Amino acid sequence: MQIAIIAHDGKKAEMVQFLLDHKSLLKKANLTSTGTTGQHVEKAGLQVNRLLSGPMGGDAQIAALAAEKKIDAVVFFRDPLDKHPHEPDVQMLMRICDVHNIPIATNPATASLIFTAFEGMD
Ligand code: PGA
Repeated sequence: MQIAIIAHDGKKAEMVQFLLDHKSLLKKANLTSTGTTGQHVEKAGLQVNRLLSGPMGGDAQIAALAAEKKIDAVVFFRDPLDKHPHEPDVQMLMRICDVHNIPIATNPATASLIFTAFEGMD
C-alpha cells in the first residue's frame, strides 16, 4: 500500500493526531509526503519518503507519482481558511487523482473512511 500524506501548515497538528490514531495501518504502508509534512510524520514515529516541500514542488511530485499509478491513496489535509502560493499545484494534484481514479481525502473524516476500507481489505 502506497499512501501519500500532505498537510497545509494550519492542519499539521490535526494530521499528526490522525496518524497516531491510525498508526497500526500506516506502519504496514509505504508513506510518501511533502517535505515539512514528512518531518511531522517522522516525529510521529513513522518512516516516510520525504519529497520537496509543497510550495517548492512537493505536491507536483506526488501528482507525478499518482499519474504513474505509484500511489494508492492521497491524504491531503487542506487548510481552506488560508491562501497558498502553490494552489495551482494543489488543484493539479486533485485533478490527476480524478483522472486516475485515486482516492484522495481532503479532511480527516474522509481519510478515516478510506482507512477503514483499507483495514477491511487486510
Ligand atoms: P509541506 O507542504 O509539507 O512542505 O508543508 C505541504 C503543502 O503545503 O502542500
